[in-house]
Amino acid sequence: MYNILIAKYGEIGVKGKNRYIFENKLIRNIRNMLKSIGKFNVYKEYGRIYIDVDDSNYEEVMNEVRKVFGVVGVCPAMKREKDYQVLKDTALLMLEEKVKNGAKTFKIQSKRGDKSFPMTSQEMSIDIGGYVLTTLNNPDVSVDVRNPEVKITCEYRNEHTLVYADSVEGYGGLPIGTNGKAMTLLSGGIDSPVASWLVAKRGVDIEAVHFHSYPFTNERSQEKVRELAKILSKYCGPIKLHMVNTLNIQKAIAENCNEEETTILSRRFMMRIAEKIGQSRYCDAIITGESIGQVASQTMQGLVCTNASVSVPVFRPLIAMDKIDIIKIAEEIGTYETSIIPEADCCSLFSPKKPVTKPRLEKIEKSEEKLDVEALIDSAIEKSVVETISYE
Ligand code: ATP
Ligand code: MG
Repeated sequence: MYNILIAKYGEIGVKGKNRYIFENKLIRNIRNMLKSIGKFNVYKEYGRIYIDVDDSNYEEVMNEVRKVFGVVGVCPAMKREKDYQVLKDTALLMLEEKVKNGAKTFKIQSKRGDKSFPMTSQEMSIDIGGYVLTTLNNPDVSVDVRNPEVKITCEYRNEHTLVYADSVEGYGGLPIGTNGKAMTLLSGGIDSPVASWLVAKRGVDIEAVHFHSYPFTNERSQEKVRELAKILSKYCGPIKLHMVNTLNIQKAIAENCNEEETTILSRRFMMRIAEKIGQSRYCDAIITGESIGQVASQTMQGLVCTNASVSVPVFRPLIAMDKIDIIKIAEEIGTYETSIIPEADCCSLFSPKKPVTKPRLEKIEKSEEKLDVEALIDSAIEKSVVETISYE
């Protein structure tokens, strides 16, 4: 019965020339999302985005399209030829289907895309409502305009007619590629993929940097991060992943600085490296998965010290979130299962037994004076490897 999906998107900021850019990006992103299940005809027509489907695949396709950033809802619809009688009979078919599933009250709402059609939309609704009710001829079924169990929308458009009744909610947000680019610090943990996803949802392109301590950390921990980037690329499109070995930095810190400051010092290195790679890649901000008080390095004082190491804006979308809520998002977006695979992280390897929880910036800066910060950063960046991760 269904042969088309209508992808609905928010209208805010989608005017004039922007609308065209916005829609084209959305179409491209929908195609990317659907790549793994097949090739689909995704197209726009008079300010709407449609996807051709059939009864065998529409549910699966709908469930993927709703995940595309910028889509606020998806409706499975019946597209038929442009004929008023056909429209009425399609509405009847929809009502029969809904009644079969237990509905007792309904309402018809109409839209007239073709303004030359002689009836107003109000007249159409009354006429179609009367037609389906008498033809159905079921005493248990009635019209309820205030609080119907089923709302059937009938559209008489320029090229065809459409009938739909259901809608699944989308993630919302803005299409990827409509709001600049940011460099995300992607660890193998639960938080950073969620943080990246949340910022990407606002239309921001993502590039990622991962820090490892190979051969102290093994290949598998890098593989895990590639897998996380791959899941994210389903939403974000191909992601450039910079793999940076920080072993020399960790060693320099261990040899020259106070053990309890190790974590904060290495976090400051990570931020600076992300900032520097980001600058060369046209990223205007960096993203982290930090959340107040989650671990010793994320106390208020810890965050102040980490933040002070860079001058670009740092986006921390999880800053005020509880772990349990972060986990819910990780499960929803599909990163959780990968994130919980136990692998050593560069931080966990060198983490001090008793980290400072109230570091003072002046003290941390003093400790850094013992290190050749610039040289360590440049050398790490020089040896870094960049990969493009995409989702097929
Ligand atoms: P996550 O669950 O994302 O690993 P976390 O709770 O373990 O976070 P930290 O290890 O303190 O917290 O890291 C805080 C943030 O710093 C991470 O969310 C991530 O953005 C970044 N980060 C930490 N380790 C790495 C790493 N090895 N590579 C890249 N970024 C990292
Ligand atoms: Mg971590």
